[in-house]
Amino acid sequence: MKVAVVGSGYVGLVAGACLADLGHEVTLVDSDKEKLNTLKAGVVPIHEKFLPELVARNSRAGRLVFSDSLPEAVGKSLVIFIAVGTPAMETGDPDLSYVEEVVSVIAKHVDHYKVVVEKSTVPVLTHEQIRKVMLLNGAPAEAFDVVSNPEFLREGTAVQDFLYPDRIVVGVSNEKSASILRDLYEPLVQGAYCRRSDAVPASAGQNGKTEFIVTSAKSAELIKHASNAFLAMKISFINAVASLCDAVGANVEEVSKGIGADHRIGRSFLRPGIGFGGSCFPKDLTAFQLVARECGVNFSLLEKVVEINHEQRNRFLRKVRGALWTLKGKRLAVLGLAFKGGTDDIRESPAIAIIKGLLEEGAQVAAFDPAAMERTQSVLGQSIVYAETPYAACHSAHALLILTDWPEFKDLDLARIRREMRHPIVIDGRNMFHPEDMANAGFHYYSMGRTTPPAASSHPRGPVTPISPGLELQELNGSTTMTAAR
Ligand code: NAD
Repeated sequence: MKVAVVGSGYVGLVAGACLADLGHEVTLVDSDKEKLNTLKAGVVPIHEKFLPELVARNSRAGRLVFSDSLPEAVGKSLVIFIAVGTPAMETGDPDLSYVEEVVSVIAKHVDHYKVVVEKSTVPVLTHEQIRKVMLLNGAPAEAFDVVSNPEFLREGTAVQDFLYPDRIVVGVSNEKSASILRDLYEPLVQGAYCRRSDAVPASAGQNGKTEFIVTSAKSAELIKHASNAFLAMKISFINAVASLCDAVGANVEEVSKGIGADHRIGRSFLRPGIGFGGSCFPKDLTAFQLVARECGVNFSLLEKVVEINHEQRNRFLRKVRGALWTLKGKRLAVLGLAFKGGTDDIRESPAIAIIKGLLEEGAQVAAFDPAAMERTQSVLGQSIVYAETPYAACHSAHALLILTDWPEFKDLDLARIRREMRHPIVIDGRNMFHPEDMANAGFHYYSMGRTTPPAASSHPRGPVTPISPGLELQELNGSTTMTAAR
């Protein structure tokens, strides 16, 4: 099938490369000339596992081309995906002007039947606006259908999520467009793709079974917002439970295991941390709240989800103060800048928000991230030191803060980290390590919703006084005051 994907960002580039890998002929369109030139030169501008391989093999095979000409791409395609950004405006509403701009160009170049697919995340009823703009710009009513096909991929595992989705939702107004989308996704729905010897492998937990769900366009639009809101709610819920665990000295991992064993609840998204971020949850939650308000529906639950999420960052900062007392002049090592592991995306990253808070209190930060350092420089400039390795970041640090769940952080040489640091204090906002392992490695280890065991005292710089669980030792800072850790 001939397909155009408009917008080659985190969603469009992944969707385009994956659709090409299914055998479709894909034209990826973007208005950003620099990005297009990078892609044409064979360089993938974002960090996403398997994406460089997919882009390379499908470009080589001629199934994936990059273009700045939307009219040309529209002319030759049956299906046109709109995957441009819908960032939040000051009001919290998503900025739909990029979508409108693209739709008005598509409308003018519809010469025979096309399916216009809303892939960007948009508020319910946007498909009606798209249809209106198509008609206003001269597209004949019988020459197009508008379909909502929300995207559920997660950055960091985007390619595998796209190729092994739990479900594909298509919101349509007739069988014709539903059947075209069914054909387009057939290799995923029928499982032919995963049987291919050169298929991208599924990740753990993905079984290649995909439900193809046909709904009205309104329902499809709501499914996307409601899914993100529900996942965000699970995160805030477990973060609030983790605070309770901290307060009473319980272990949130045991609690979430016990909760998640109930199949009605499930185990996923029950890991506490420093809160959610990224380009989707915060913006989509706000947009969903506004939709509910406009419809006269009381959905104040969503406000609480956002509130708890925001508070989580403050709670982490309080943990840092609890462990270090004052922050002015303290040298802090930070591991992780991206909003989650596996991506270079720093949009709404809680790590960046926390670093800003630390800097405001006069701390010095040396940070390392496997992929997000360049993007962070455009936001934080030279206000922090960008270390070449995790160990360099830890050099002479009063404490190490773990802010992103990059899996490779689990493999760090803890003894080396400890040797680099001035004081063996680790405050883990992502629960990457086991408290006992960290204590055995000689660290004062603070995490989210788990008690702090006493550190073993074998520090090469001299013995470290063990501390009682739940208490902070200020001796490391020249004072012997004990303060509650919570
Ligand atoms: P992005 O900012 O990474 O990419 C958007 C791209 O659209 C950019 O490359 C930009 O240059 C291009 N663009 C903007 N205006 C254009 C125009 N007029 N013509 C051609 N190209 C244009 O955004 P993203 O993260 O890929 O998100 C895209 C949409 O998908 C958003 O609505 C987002 O909410 C949704 N979404 C994102 C994710 C995610 O994990 N990032 C997941 C699901 C859904």
